[in-house]
Amino acid sequence: MTDPSFLPFVTRPGRYLGCEYQSAPIKTTADLLHWALVFPDLYEIGMSHQGLQILYHLLNSCDRVQAERCYCPAPDAEAVMREQGAALTTLESGRPLSSCDLVGITLPHELCYTNILTILDRAGLPFLAAERVEGQPIVIGGGPCAFNPEPVAELFDAILLGDGEEAVIDIAALVLNLKTAGAGRSEIIEALADIDGVYLPHRYRPIYDESGRLTGIEHRPDVPARVRRRILATLDGIDHLIKPLVPNAKIVHDRLGIEVARGCTRGCRFCQAGMTYRPVRERSVEQICALAEAGITNSGFDEIALLSLSTGDYSCLPEVLPRLMNRFSGERVSISMPSMRVGTLGPELMEQIKRVRKTGFTLAPEAGSERLRQAINKGISEDDLLSAAEHAFSLGWNLIKLYFMIGLPGETMTDIDAIAELAQKTALAGKVSGRGRRRVNVSVGTFVPKPHTPFQWDAQLTIEQSRERLERLRAVMARRGLNLKYHDPQQSYLEGVFARGDRRLTRLIIAAWQRGARLDSWSDWFDLGRWQSAADDCAIDLNAYLHARDPGETLPWQHLDAGIDIDFLLRERDNAEQQLYTPDCRYHGCQQCGLCDFKTIQPLVRNRRRLPPDPATLQPPATIAAPPESGCKYLITYSRTGPIRFLGHLELLQVIFRAIRRAGWRPLYSHGFNPSPKISFGPALPVGTESLCEFLLLEHDGPLTDLADQADRLSRVLPPGLEVSSIRPHHGKVPQDIVCSYEIQLPFDLDDAQTRLITNFTQAESFIVQRRRKNNTAPLDLRPLVDALSVTPPRTVLAEIVYQSSRPGCKPLELLAHLLGCDQATLTAGMVRKTSWRPLTV
Ligand code: SF4
Repeated sequence: MTDPSFLPFVTRPGRYLGCEYQSAPIKTTADLLHWALVFPDLYEIGMSHQGLQILYHLLNSCDRVQAERCYCPAPDAEAVMREQGAALTTLESGRPLSSCDLVGITLPHELCYTNILTILDRAGLPFLAAERVEGQPIVIGGGPCAFNPEPVAELFDAILLGDGEEAVIDIAALVLNLKTAGAGRSEIIEALADIDGVYLPHRYRPIYDESGRLTGIEHRPDVPARVRRRILATLDGIDHLIKPLVPNAKIVHDRLGIEVARGCTRGCRFCQAGMTYRPVRERSVEQICALAEAGITNSGFDEIALLSLSTGDYSCLPEVLPRLMNRFSGERVSISMPSMRVGTLGPELMEQIKRVRKTGFTLAPEAGSERLRQAINKGISEDDLLSAAEHAFSLGWNLIKLYFMIGLPGETMTDIDAIAELAQKTALAGKVSGRGRRRVNVSVGTFVPKPHTPFQWDAQLTIEQSRERLERLRAVMARRGLNLKYHDPQQSYLEGVFARGDRRLTRLIIAAWQRGARLDSWSDWFDLGRWQSAADDCAIDLNAYLHARDPGETLPWQHLDAGIDIDFLLRERDNAEQQLYTPDCRYHGCQQCGLCDFKTIQPLVRNRRRLPPDPATLQPPATIAAPPESGCKYLITYSRTGPIRFLGHLELLQVIFRAIRRAGWRPLYSHGFNPSPKISFGPALPVGTESLCEFLLLEHDGPLTDLADQADRLSRVLPPGLEVSSIRPHHGKVPQDIVCSYEIQLPFDLDDAQTRLITNFTQAESFIVQRRRKNNTAPLDLRPLVDALSVTPPRTVLAEIVYQSSRPGCKPLELLAHLLGCDQATLTAGMVRKTSWRPLTV
């Protein structure tokens, strides 16, 4: 866990708390291998990432390995750390990254590269692998960008290509053995190359000619010319998410994710994941259901996301979806499928999805015209799209999101206009499909050519070209009354530079970081100007990285083997020009991409004759029984101590809702589109305040027996720091007009004058302060809000503060800041504890 003394000074301290429910316990065995798993983005993004969680649970299932997590600090937290001289640590035990044996950093996307530098910097590690010394951790990269890691290759001692599940176990075993045998750092790094899929960047050196053109990749004679990606033959052995981490703070994908399949062989020619995650490996229905059962019971999530590159293509979806819906709809657990391909969801399956809650409906035609969709091998027609939209609208969805790209190879302005035409036809489908307002949102991104795809040689649009096409699209759409959202072309531009970049960009990344570049995928922080001035200083022409390449040219990633034959990519490039369709090898025979050996690696499709859902499993659709209008009310009192006091009120509500689900209780739910449990909380506690006496009112659908036992049961499923002290039946509403007693430990001793300032307050008739709110300042009399106030020297203050639902309240530190005439921030290092409350008697 992060040092708590840092938490009062940062925004969203929940990002740095750790202590999530089901985080790995700290092992006490000697001679452990300590592996920090780092996601180079903010907590809310990193905690949403399935891959890191899988590796976390896998590694922690090994007796002699302790895996812990770390995410990138936000700029404000980085500044506080720098000011305090604090080192970046793991969330679980607060171990400095610099004292781990291995630091594994995910490479999820190209715009996270400066975050890697923030992490290395705050960990006290040199940026360049070549500058690290004995005793410092081995830094390993892996993830989607490992297929061209060259812009950051020199930051890593080793990089893993491909599936990580088996490889991390091999790496852990090797490092543990060599470390135990007394091997040195370099010896261990060299030995890592013997593990399939591990690339050691220092063994390969790019050669440039005098004009700066890459002419080759040099390597020692004893080193293989190419490093081949690691491929997992089946997902069946990967069932480690039965006890998923449950975040305390709000994250982007706050749900139980189940990977139903890996790989997609639809063959979209722009899609890097479609090439680098081949072949398709589907999980069995039984395992999916078992993971859902255990995952929901153990986490309390109210949503299951079925994950894969194209979940609609999962061959057993017609079987697994009704099974999951029948099992979970009564518990108000919704099923979502974030990546659906047009044409893969029939009306029967859509009917199932809407049974609990209509999650978002996104369709990705990618290109507006039939011609361009054929060129990219999308394999969907306008009719497919419109009929999917019609079904969605007629089943009650009122918003459809359409996603397109601009700048695909061969695009003309006619293709841009076709985006607007298709969007308009989709909106018309809404008008004929039902009553009420139906909307279509269009999102557009600039195409970024990616390595290991048939379009890896093609040019990317410049920023100006992107803007010109977006402007045209916006004008056409506005005339048709349609809304357009688009991804910032400047961010796509920088993504394009790094996607096909080489090692010369490392110094650019460092220079931009030194100029303040941070969190470049976040529009709030992104500033292309920093990059352009860094590029000028490094004499790097960013535009050159967007140019088309000749198929005979040396590419910076050509020593990295994703498993796809270059001949296949060239063939597909020709097919794109001729708009020839390449069918899916799952159902239409091998298309000779070169990946499978058909011994251990081959497509694994569970149901090759995918059938529509069996009506017997679908009828009648299970409806949720109408809940009773009122239930049994219980007042639950609990304490909130330790670091979890830094959670915000809304974050705490989510934590409690989930714990109540984990305890197996049956709260009543509100009515409406998004029902929520009928739980009312007492007045919100200020962030950072401990409490021994928080309370909430729960409406349960029947009586709870043995309330002391129930209190223990709920405590056991709460994250550390929350504990139930009593449950008792209650009549009426949750008390809102109350007097709360606080014990405040100030961060300094009070002198006589300060003590008088506090004690004189109770003698005063009124104490008017100017309270600042977002847009104005208003007078507030603090005196009637305080029932009692006293000082216990040298630094303890006892306060009784009045809260009324109809009037403004006052926080203990706010009160003391006004009395002492100081900034509230100077008091935040102190400790505030709510010790009791009583109903307000007027
Ligand atoms: S080798 Fe053949 S079967 Fe295997 S992924 Fe490639 S095209 Fe599909």
